[in-house]
Amino acid sequence: MASKAKSRWADDEADAALEAQLKKEKEEKKRLKAEKARRLEEEKKAREATAAAAQAQAQAEGDGANGPPAKRRRISPERETAQAAAASDENTNAPKLLRFGGGAFGRPRSVENYDKLNDIEEGAYGWVSRAKEVATGEVVALKRLKIDPKDRGGLPVTGLREIQILKDCDHRNVVKLREVVVGDDTSRIENIFLVLEFLEHDLKSILEDMPEPFLASEVKTLLRQLASGVAYLHDNWILHRDLKTSNLLLNNRGQLKIADFGMARYVGDPPPKLTQLVVTLWYRAPELLLGTSRYDGAIDMWSVGCIFGELLTREPLLQGRNEVDELTKIFELCGVPTEESWPSFRRLPNARGLRLPSSGGRATGSTIRAKFPLLTAAGVGLLNGLLALDPEKRPTAKEMLAHEYFRQDPKPKQEAMFPTFPSKAGQERRRRRETPNAPARGQQAADLGAVDFTGIFSGREREERGGGFSLRMV
Ligand code: ADP
Repeated sequence: MASKAKSRWADDEADAALEAQLKKEKEEKKRLKAEKARRLEEEKKAREATAAAAQAQAQAEGDGANGPPAKRRRISPERETAQAAAASDENTNAPKLLRFGGGAFGRPRSVENYDKLNDIEEGAYGWVSRAKEVATGEVVALKRLKIDPKDRGGLPVTGLREIQILKDCDHRNVVKLREVVVGDDTSRIENIFLVLEFLEHDLKSILEDMPEPFLASEVKTLLRQLASGVAYLHDNWILHRDLKTSNLLLNNRGQLKIADFGMARYVGDPPPKLTQLVVTLWYRAPELLLGTSRYDGAIDMWSVGCIFGELLTREPLLQGRNEVDELTKIFELCGVPTEESWPSFRRLPNARGLRLPSSGGRATGSTIRAKFPLLTAAGVGLLNGLLALDPEKRPTAKEMLAHEYFRQDPKPKQEAMFPTFPSKAGQERRRRRETPNAPARGQQAADLGAVDFTGIFSGREREERGGGFSLRMV
């Protein structure tokens, strides 16, 4: 009995041990199975993200990149590696894949790591709010990617470009991308957020609200920082393609940073064919308006010229109502193109049918000088250069930095001495005056087929039209 009992007890013990062993094995198997399923799911997601990013980026890089490259001025003679990288991007059709932080396909952090404080702005492609990182209390700007109907539910090209370029940039005059975070439902594009360093102002809001224009020394500080940021971008084969005052941020320490890289892209040397539908109308260079598909950093320098004028008067310089009106305003300020002032102008797609005054252009300097009577001769010289009709004649950002305008008195004001302004972004949603945005992808360029500019400087025509003047389409 005792032995039986012992044996039965022994059996029970053995059974229990066996049962425990089996349970453990089962649990381990279950764990391994779940682990495998999770890994497979992650791999599948990664493959899908790779394919989507590759497709979107191929689309982004495509941007009309067909045909043989034209000869052009080099943006910068240096940076062999960047050049090779850009060239390989253009030539091999092998898009670089985006990595949203956390290693190869590591999960980006959740947006829950940030508490929203207030909305700042709803822009063309995104939505920006001020937020605080829960762990550190640091204030940041959260920019949500907006769906572009053109992307048909895929990843938005503008957002991908912005992420890729900002991830690569590291310069004190370019806004810093801290990380990319996601909301719970990662299948929704609008649940992807860029976490950017927060700056209290954008220049447009300041210009709209300030009672007095910037001092000459302050304009110089801002322009020098802008040129420095643009020089960095161009050195790294990046065209911004949407420089304007609302895309220039300023912090309370007088530091300016270039933001909004939704239109930006890498270019090689020579550049590929690119869409001319870039840059907000009021800041768009004449070669773009005339349909060029080969352009370089000079289009950004034209925008810098427009920004220069705006900093002086607090009003956008060339507020055209449409492409024809924009060209008209450009010709009125800068003169009409001639063989001498812009030799390659007639070869531009939209220039062939244009009728221009036979007398040719006026001296651009005199109009600009009259419009900016307080600007020094060096300042007029720089502004004239930036607003040269012929892109070849505009200074590069590096050349601009060396311009005597910045060396002459009054010297650029020290950033630390820059005045401070009440921050709208810090407290309230902005209500802005209506200003145009950069063109949407897929938008049609205006057909300037045959526009008659012959009456542009005729006094009689001006009087008849009450001082203004409009174009005749023929
Ligand atoms: P969109 O691409 O939608 O036009 P932007 O990047 O131009 O968006 O941002 C829109 C506005 O949001 C800017 O004009 C600026 O006022 C504000 N903003 C953008 N980034 C920041 C930032 N890092 N800090 C503070 N405000 C910002």
